[in-house]
Parts: sequence; C-alpha cells; structure tokens
Amino acid sequence: MGHDEDNDQTQDRTQHLRSGTTPGTALGADSAARRDRAVRAAVEQGVVGPAAPVAGLLDVVGIRASAAALHAAFDAVTPPGTPVLHAFAVKAAPLVAVLRLLRSAGIGAEVASPGELALARAAGVAPAHTVLDSPAKTPAELREALALGIAVNADNPQELARLDTMTRSALTGSPLGIRVNPQIGGGAIGALSTATPTSKFGVPLRDDDAREWVVRAFLDRPWLTRLHAHSGSQGMPLEMMVRGVAATYELAEEINERAGRRQVDTIDIGGGLPVNFGSDDETPTHAQYARRLKARVPGLLDGRYGLVTEFGRSLLAKHGTILARVEYAKQAGGRPIAVTHAGVQVATRTVYMPASWPLRIRAYDTKGDLKSGPAVGQDVAGPACFAGDLLAENRPLPLLEQGDYIAALDTGAYYFAHHYSYNSLARPGVHGFSVQADAVRFAVAREPQTLDEIVAEAGGGSERDSLRHL
Ligand SMILES: *Cc1c(COP(=O)(O)O)cnc(C)c1O
Repeated sequence: MGHDEDNDQTQDRTQHLRSGTTPGTALGADSAARRDRAVRAAVEQGVVGPAAPVAGLLDVVGIRASAAALHAAFDAVTPPGTPVLHAFAVKAAPLVAVLRLLRSAGIGAEVASPGELALARAAGVAPAHTVLDSPAKTPAELREALALGIAVNADNPQELARLDTMTRSALTGSPLGIRVNPQIGGGAIGALSTATPTSKFGVPLRDDDAREWVVRAFLDRPWLTRLHAHSGSQGMPLEMMVRGVAATYELAEEINERAGRRQVDTIDIGGGLPVNFGSDDETPTHAQYARRLKARVPGLLDGRYGLVTEFGRSLLAKHGTILARVEYAKQAGGRPIAVTHAGVQVATRTVYMPASWPLRIRAYDTKGDLKSGPAVGQDVAGPACFAGDLLAENRPLPLLEQGDYIAALDTGAYYFAHHYSYNSLARPGVHGFSVQADAVRFAVAREPQTLDEIVAEAGGGSERDSLRHL
C-alpha cells in the first residue's frame, strides 16, 4: 500500500507541475515549432549559407526546460532536503558553452577523461558538482581529482589499490566509491550496453566472489561511501535500467547492514535514459523513469541516500539539429540523390551503423521554409569520399533541389559536437538559439574550424619537417 500511495502522490505532484505548462506531446510540438523558426532565421541571418554550408543548432529554451524537468522529476519522488546531484555526462556534448548553460540550470558534470575535466572546470562547474568515472584513470588524474575534491568511482581492484595509497599519503575531500556492474544484460545496441556479463566497466557483481569482495572492500575502508552503476545507454529498456539500479541499492543495503552503520550514503545511478529518435515526442521522460524507480526501488528514494544521476543523451538530444545545404541534386540508377554538407563528419554513428542510429530528416527550401510536395524516395548524402556516406537512404521526402537545406533532427547529443575529421572536413560551428515572440537570436557555442586550424592540427604548424630528417 505504501508503494501505491507514493506512486499516486508522485503522479499528482507531477501532474500539478505540468498543468501550468503545455501538457503531453505539445511540449514536443513547441520544440518543433521553435526548430522550424530557427532554421528559417539561420538561413536569413547567414548562420548557414554558401559560406557556412553546415552548422549545428542548439535550442537553449529546450535545454533549460529539460534541465528543469529533470530536477522536478527527482524532487517529486524524494523527500525535501534529499541531496540530489544531476551531473551531465560531458561526453554527450563536450562544449564549454553547453556546460555553462547547464551549470546555470543547476546541473553538474560527469567527466571521464582529463579533457572532459578541463572542459567542466573551464565552464566553472564546482568540484562538488563533478564526478570522475573513467575506466582508465592514470595516477596523475586520480591525484588531481583527489586534490580538487572531485568524487571518484573506482572501476576495479587495481584502481582501488591506487586510492588506498593516495588516501594514506594525503587528505582528500573527495567522496569515493566503487563502480559495480550489475550484469543485468545488454540492450538493443551492443556497443552501448555496459552491464553485460563481460562488460569492461566496474566490478562484475555476479562473478564468483566479486560481491563479497566489494562488501569487504567497504568494511576495510571506512572512507568508501558511494556505489555507482551505469547499466547502459540508448537501447536499454527502462525496466532493465531499473533492475540495475535495484541491484546496486540492494548491495548498498547489504554493506550498510554488515557495517552496522550507514557507510554507503550516496548512490550514483548513472545515466542512460533512452531517447525517442522517431518523433518529436519525448518518451520516456525523466519523470516516468523517476516514478518507475520510486515504485520498484522505494528505499533508494526515501531520503536515506543521497543521489547522483549522470544523464547525457536524454538532456540534449532533442534540442540539437544539424542543418546543411544541398550543394547538388542529382540522379543515379533512377534514384534522386541530394549531395549535402552533412555526412560522416557530423553523424558518424548514423553513417557507419544506419540500422542502429537512424535519424529523422526534414527538408527546407532555399529560404529555410519547410518544403512541401509529394514524398520521393531519395538518398541524403554527405560530402565525404566514400559511397556509404549517407545520412539516409531512399528516404521519402519532398524532392530536394540545389540550394535547399536538410535538417538532421535530435542530434544535440553525441552528434555535431563529436567531430570526425574524415577528408579533413572542417568542424562546423555550433550555434545556440532562443526564439522570442518576434525574433530568433543566435549565440556561438563553438566557432567553425578554420583551414589554418586544420593545417595546424595536422602537424603543419611548424617548419621542422621532422619526418624528412629522420
Ligand atoms: C555515457 C555515460 C553516461 C551517459 O549516458 P547517456 O546514455 O548519454 O545518458 C553516464 N554515465 C557513464 C558512466 C557513462 O559512461
């Protein structure tokens, strides 16, 4: 009965939060309307055009709304005062401007490399709002994190041994934990499933003696206070994610019982909420996930544990658009082909694994207005020199013509900010936008890469000519 009550209450509170704004899928409709206006304005204001034939657009209003919805989702299922840190997984959008925007919305950073930590620091994310999780931390990285007071989750026994040495020789304010792999199995995308029996991440809980090893590790080290699990990303059914969190919670309870005190005080449940790439609807929502956790793992959310979350894709994906100009429209073997400037360099996963990562494509005319007309199966091709460089194959769209634009939707996470420099294609600019009643304003989140930068990054910056002199 307790659970049902919690659940009802949660739903009521969430309903209440929503009732002031647009209900249900209209949220998606708002965001689609903003996107269409931004595309039009980007063409009008020259954000894209012949000289800048591809750009990434980020909906600042939408990102703020998702951050607020994430806070509301967990506030609705935890007692007031429960410590909850939402740490954005920096790898999903490694842009300082994005991290600053999220910081201003009360979101921290989950980092997994020295580069990501540097980005989080450049964005002013406080050490207390930063979590370091990578599977291959060097001693220098660990020392830096401990010196800064950043939370660290040890991935394996060897890393824990390093922490043993370091905590003996210096005091740290870092909350320290162990990452576990609940081994609940994989989702639809193998490469993103982190809780398979043989996953490279964390301590595999179901292996012989591993669970007992984790419990002992805590009992022997009073300074270990956290457990961390991230069971996978896109392609994981909610129910499996919940099972991974439940297994981690049960382990925390076991440790605390055997320790005779509340040694594990915080559980980091990772990220991984899947994103709907098929329409403008946001499903599942952070609120649905939080309610599912409340129903299935109530003890996790009753206020006895602090929480850390590490969502990446679900915070950003729906708010990003790749906008690219159609340079040429041609035909081959009866198939219309739009040759655009968006291909493998900005949509690497989609081009190499089209079945796992299909993207919706929208067609806009030379002025940036949505194109209408009968749908014709056509290839939307990128600029790279290999035949497979296609954003979409035989996709029914209004017939694209020279000078039109295509938009690849839901690309705000893991797409245009993850440049792949095939053919030395330049990193496109990334522009945040906000839509007001009468105007669309843009601000640069990342300048487009220049040719000089391409040459310099390719080792052309100096005259040393070192290979020739070997
Ligand atoms: C990638 C990753 C995340 C974020 O995953 P999303 O699917 O983008 O939410 C969170 N935590 C860890 C440890 C990760 O590796």
